Amino acid sequence: MSPISLVTHQPKPPVTVSIIVPYYNEREVLGEFHARLNKVLDSIEESCEIVYIDDGSTDDSNCLVDTLPITSSNVVNICLSRNFGKEYAVTAGLEHSKGLAVILLDADLQDPPELIPSMLKEWRKGFDVVNMQRRNRYGESWFKQFSASTFYRLLNLLVKSDIPENVGDFRLLSREVVDHICSLTESSRYMKGIFAWPGYRQTTLPFDRDARYCGETKWNYLKLLGLAVDGITSFSIRPLRLATIVGGLIAFAAFVFGLIIISKTLLFGELVSGYPSMMVVQLALGGIQLLSIGVLGEYIGRIFIEVKNRPLYLIQSVVERSGQNKTRSMEKRA
Ligand code: UDP
Ligand code: MG
Repeated sequence: MSPISLVTHQPKPPVTVSIIVPYYNEREVLGEFHARLNKVLDSIEESCEIVYIDDGSTDDSNCLVDTLPITSSNVVNICLSRNFGKEYAVTAGLEHSKGLAVILLDADLQDPPELIPSMLKEWRKGFDVVNMQRRNRYGESWFKQFSASTFYRLLNLLVKSDIPENVGDFRLLSREVVDHICSLTESSRYMKGIFAWPGYRQTTLPFDRDARYCGETKWNYLKLLGLAVDGITSFSIRPLRLATIVGGLIAFAAFVFGLIIISKTLLFGELVSGYPSMMVVQLALGGIQLLSIGVLGEYIGRIFIEVKNRPLYLIQSVVERSGQNKTRSMEKRA
């Protein structure tokens, strides 16, 4: 598989800031997004690149990106061979970014590009990770907000490295952190956990998350539940430990109960009664066994996926377009 590369032959200044934008069927919003992002990037000193990753869009988003106007930033458009999922698109973006500071941004304008300068300010102070924490989640039902906060609490109970609450993929990562993340080759890519794993100097900025500019979210509750199970099973083996502990406690209780029944039978003879209690015990034991087998199955499934060791994504094409030299365009503006 060799990606087709259409590289314009102009001298390229080194890139300081990379903006990674995964998109999947976002044709309605991409034009507005690109304009707002470029306005911000043109106003900062550092040389920038925008790395768009087409996650197998079925509309004409990909062609649209190649026609978006170029200002001061380089624009790279990486087209994956099919829809791999946002986590894989982000991974492709991280692996193809060149900047010393890398910022992840959704294409639907829920993460305001106008916050980039304040993120860079924190990075210049020496922070390696700038987490953007949602203060408000406009356009999301109370049930989604409640289930998200319950999930974060459960996850942090189970996982050793701290995964900050209400922080999505919108964040800044330094080159060092990005390189460590790129060295993680696991197929199961729960990005919030992966981002938290390297550690380093972190800071958090609060922000108000806007509602989607237009279009529909690509996530439904079933997908989110899958993501939650992925998140827990790829970053913690504590559910297995819990299954062992609960199993041990129940086995102990069953042994004590057995002793009581034997003693009672020996002392008072056999009494034919206790159908309800028998059913309750049986059903409880059956349920717990099935749950434990399910937990085991989840982990065995993970092992199955990991041992196949497939590439995380396939690239169909890469189109790179160079922006105007920033120092020159800054001079012109001044
Ligand atoms: N996205 C993607 N691949 C997918 C689903 C979504 O690249 O399979 C992109 C999508 O185009 C958007 C970002 O990931 O830029 C966030 O997706 P969405 O807005 O649907 O998620 P939400 O904000 O509702 O969590
Ligand atoms: Mg969104």
